[in-house]
Amino acid sequence: MKRLSGKVVVITGAARGIGRAIALRLAGEGANVALVTRSSVDKLAEVAQTIEAANGQALTIQADVSGVDDAKRIISETTEKFGRIDILVNNAGITKDNLLVRLKERDWDDVINVNLKGTFNCLKAAARPMMRQRSGKIINITSVVGIMGNAGQVNYAASKAGIIGLTKSAAKELSAWNITVNAVAPGFVETDMTESLPEDAKNMMLQWIPLKRPGQPADVAGVVAFLCSEDADYITGQIVQVDGGMRM
Ligand code: NAD
Repeated sequence: MKRLSGKVVVITGAARGIGRAIALRLAGEGANVALVTRSSVDKLAEVAQTIEAANGQALTIQADVSGVDDAKRIISETTEKFGRIDILVNNAGITKDNLLVRLKERDWDDVINVNLKGTFNCLKAAARPMMRQRSGKIINITSVVGIMGNAGQVNYAASKAGIIGLTKSAAKELSAWNITVNAVAPGFVETDMTESLPEDAKNMMLQWIPLKRPGQPADVAGVVAFLCSEDADYITGQIVQVDGGMRM
């Protein structure tokens, strides 16, 4: 039997990059997946088709995680379709980089609203059904930048550091219901998000990575799959870095 057979998983930001890789990996391990995107509906449909072509089950949901009502709808549509929710992967995230003194209030608000508030919204909406079931697993995607900081990313680093505090606090609260809450902190992963970085910034980051290569979405997906599995039942409140040794 596959490791996640029959499990119902919600993955936010699943249209591309790391979220897409997580969706394909978890579906490959037998999970029924609810895939969420804000705007990339066509790309999300392609991910769902790939999963269905391999005899998996996928539901697509267009929603903005920064809105409380959308977050509630993500969970209700998932439980309507699949009957329950076992795992939530809070992956949706954005960057709006600038130096501190140039950073606009709007860019601060947008990044905090999607990355941090969006994680809270979905976690809160999923917590009740998981508490009723007395089981659940929540995996939040943070970043090494939330641990070490990064010039030009005060909004992003603050949102990702916030996710770490949220993860540890929720892990303590929800442990009484047998719900684990962990975070995965990728380093530098090749996706659309990092594509637009200047070449010298990419080269500088590669110099910081002892394993001497950028991460791939599949590197992150493998660790998320482990945290979703029964092998991780006794792990909660942890921040697992997937960064080639970038920060140790
Ligand atoms: P990406 O930009 O390729 O994909 C982000 C996904 O999130 C997209 O599918 C997008 O539609 C979705 N999304 C954005 N805002 C949303 C919203 N409000 N509601 C619903 N969906 C929304 O990014 P990625 O590189 O795959 O990053 C995925 C996650 O990993 C993010 O949380 C990011 O911060 C984190 N991360 C990425 C890296 C990296 O190097 N790429 C490093 C550390 C952490």
